[in-house]
Amino acid sequence: MNCLEKRIINDGVVKEGNVLKVDSFLNHQMDTDLFNEMGKEWKKRFEGKQITKILTIEASGIGIACIVAQHFQVPVVFAKKAKTINLDGDLYTAEVESFTHKTKNQIVVSKKFINENDRVLLIDDFLANGCALLGLIQIVEAAGATVEGIGIAIEKGFQQGGQIIRNSGYQLESLAIVESMDWETGTINLGENNR
Ligand code: 5GP
Repeated sequence: MNCLEKRIINDGVVKEGNVLKVDSFLNHQMDTDLFNEMGKEWKKRFEGKQITKILTIEASGIGIACIVAQHFQVPVVFAKKAKTINLDGDLYTAEVESFTHKTKNQIVVSKKFINENDRVLLIDDFLANGCALLGLIQIVEAAGATVEGIGIAIEKGFQQGGQIIRNSGYQLESLAIVESMDWETGTINLGENNR
């Protein structure tokens, strides 16, 4: 069991609606030593890939991406969530439905920060239905850049996102995969993290 998996079992809290709360170490209070270990592991798994940029989405991906970027020595760009539809031609946009808030957001990235020469590593805290990742992929494609790989901290394997992303041919590396969880008993079952 890797250190992220241990933390999930020790400190993760299952909430109603298939939500796993990991705010004591991942996305509210943040354990930067843990993020550093995650960065080391992704660096190994994406060995040989010429990554030029890390792209994540606000807010919870940002902390993880910043620590991970130190292992790849590349800049981090985060997609911003915009409340209104922005027709500014200087932005790449995509629509993303929030899993936790059930609202639709436009996400935007300035055209200044991704271009056709970029080989992008996508990083996020969770993968559930895949909406956030599909939005980020849309932005990378609009820029003419390449998605070199995708690093997810916690994939919920019982939701469809992982299958959609793997079937599309991307190298998806989830460091922990939750196969099932039950909010009534608080049980969390982890699967093989190297699919
Ligand atoms: P997706 O777009 O794949 O359906 O959901 C991924 C996004 O929703 C992530 O960026 C993450 O912030 C949030 N998310 C999805 N599932 C969970 C969860 O179980 N717990 C928490 N804390 N966030 C989640």
